Amino acid sequence: MYSDGLYHISLMGGQARAILVESTGLVQRAKEIHGLSRIATAALGRTLTAAVMMGSMLKGEDESISAQIKGGGPIGTVLAVAHGDCTVKGYVDNPGVDLPRTGKKLPVGAAVGKDGKLTVIKDMHMREPYVGQVNLVSGEIAEDFAMYFTASEQTPSLVSLGVLVSDERVEAAGGLIIQIMPGASEAAIASIEASAGMFMDISGTMREYHLKDSVQQLLLHLEPEILETRTPRYACNCSRDRIERMLITLGAEELQDMIHTQHGAQVDCHFCNKRYEFSEDALKTLLEAATIREGQ
Ligand code: ZN
Repeated sequence: MYSDGLYHISLMGGQARAILVESTGLVQRAKEIHGLSRIATAALGRTLTAAVMMGSMLKGEDESISAQIKGGGPIGTVLAVAHGDCTVKGYVDNPGVDLPRTGKKLPVGAAVGKDGKLTVIKDMHMREPYVGQVNLVSGEIAEDFAMYFTASEQTPSLVSLGVLVSDERVEAAGGLIIQIMPGASEAAIASIEASAGMFMDISGTMREYHLKDSVQQLLLHLEPEILETRTPRYACNCSRDRIERMLITLGAEELQDMIHTQHGAQVDCHFCNKRYEFSEDALKTLLEAATIREGQ
């Protein structure tokens, strides 16, 4: 039903590179899972779209990147986590957030707020994860990611993210990142900058054209060459095993408390809303594990 896809594209003989994604289906999935309002769909949808593009740049399938936006606005925290296999998941603190519209556009910046930071954590299985952080520019998200790439990764980048959403469904969603490579000519940089305006209505382009045609539509003058095609999707990798490990790390005292006061536990995954139930006996087993761990 949806034609989500993601391209890695070389521009102008390698002087720049682009990632173009259609993410309509995966943003719709997020809307359904979390019951997102229109503004929350736009805010989380843009963040998921940026994250899945960044995840597609990772070398290993199980490497991950998480992007967290805390802007002090009524939506609370916006979080997206993407993996090298082109999957992404995320949530917002307040999925029902609603604000009056001022113009044609959804007031995403006002919902997110701009008094805060965008934090990117890349886990590439090194000893320490890479952590980059920038102050938010506007809370509109695309500009904030552009600032992150430029300031934190020292890669001048153009970022466009768009989500077109009605009350019922996501009409179109997509994103484009263009990054100028070291050694690009002045002329190449100038032609990218000159066409920046064309890239801004990315969800409109995705609604009008198939992904493949939108490459021509948007990038034809920059001599695009598609290097790789991927299929992005919304997926959660939670499991009972992972939740058990999380409960063990809470510690013996916390587990003891759950056993005595609640006689069990329910843990809901924030990303997919799956519920995991633990009986009193199950918690006692975890308590043993936590006690052994703390004794070491
Ligand atoms: Zn989950």
